[in-house]
Amino acid sequence: MEWNIDEVSLIGWRRDIHAHPELSFQEKRTSNLVAGLLKDFGLEVDRPTATSVVGTLRGARSGRNIALRADMDALPMQEETDELFRSQIPGVMHACGHDAHTAMLLAAAKTLAGLRDQLAGTVTFIFQHAEELPPGGAVELVSCGVLDSVDAVFGLHVMNQKAGTVSIARGAASTAVDGGFLTIQGKGSHGSMPQDGVDPIVVGAEVIGALQTVVSRSIAPDRFAVVTVGSFNSGAAPNVIPDTARLGLSLRTANAADRKTVQRRVEELVAGVCAGHGASYEFEWQAGYDAVVNDDAAAQLAFKAAATALGEEQVSWGPGTGASEDFSAYSSRVPGCFLFLGGGDASEGLPFQNHHPKFNILESSLTAGARVEVQLALDFLNEPG
Ligand SMILES: [Zn+2]
Ligand SMILES: [Zn+2]
Repeated sequence: MEWNIDEVSLIGWRRDIHAHPELSFQEKRTSNLVAGLLKDFGLEVDRPTATSVVGTLRGARSGRNIALRADMDALPMQEETDELFRSQIPGVMHACGHDAHTAMLLAAAKTLAGLRDQLAGTVTFIFQHAEELPPGGAVELVSCGVLDSVDAVFGLHVMNQKAGTVSIARGAASTAVDGGFLTIQGKGSHGSMPQDGVDPIVVGAEVIGALQTVVSRSIAPDRFAVVTVGSFNSGAAPNVIPDTARLGLSLRTANAADRKTVQRRVEELVAGVCAGHGASYEFEWQAGYDAVVNDDAAAQLAFKAAATALGEEQVSWGPGTGASEDFSAYSSRVPGCFLFLGGGDASEGLPFQNHHPKFNILESSLTAGARVEVQLALDFLNEPG
């Protein structure tokens, strides 16, 4: 099957979207641009929410349904690159590469639309709003039913790795991050009369020590989990026992069972230590996204498709990221795989990670990503399901 990517349009779309970034849940211009182009390509276009777009491409013959996902939102930060197409919106920047994701999926849609006669099955193109802001756009789209007839879902994320390379994690591709604050309520007193108070600093210190056992004693040694106490604030004067102590916590885990275990152990230890000292406590938890866990068969298919599209030497099995992604809202419902695409690294003059004000990608990686997406659709629809 002969096909290619419209590279000129692809680069143009990416630059245009990059210059006009929009914050989560406000992707008005971007989603209108996407919807218009998908219509031009001849796809059926839905707008499940105000700023999201789903395009459907039905092949000439019936078959399975593959969903390809791109996210479209930008971050509340000031861009510091020197590009001519840098952000025209003060304080808003595409620093996570979602401009690239959107443009690549548009290019893949254009190519696949041209191959409609040779497709057996359906391609669902999900252009998602609000990845960067929990609860995120993905969970909203799932509840709108975008996965109802989908058999598998794939997504790409540009990363600070060699341009045009693909790395795929076996198992967890990203972590779940839950965080929040713990307030320990003690009882203040004069520093010379500790017997009249309940010292929240002593209780807090003991809590911090106890929390070090959550991962080391409750999670299997071959599993990824991190408990971090990122802040500990209490008191002001050397001779006063304060009333309260406030701790900031973040909990990272790579699967749902460990996520529950870590939260439960943290709460049990805090309850136990506080009870032992006559202190009370309050948690303010903020739940983050679930971990993205790649399905084995979907990951194998993705590896093969990427190798076909880019050459075997460009594709490797690699680690997941410690960051978190709402792609999990899809991949926890249907088999899925989340691939990492190199946008360029330090050796290519791009030392900055995602979410850095100088984050950037090499444009050659755009074509690579779009090629992988087209190949994924072709391979998935041609495989006997
Ligand atoms: Zn991001
Ligand atoms: Zn991102």
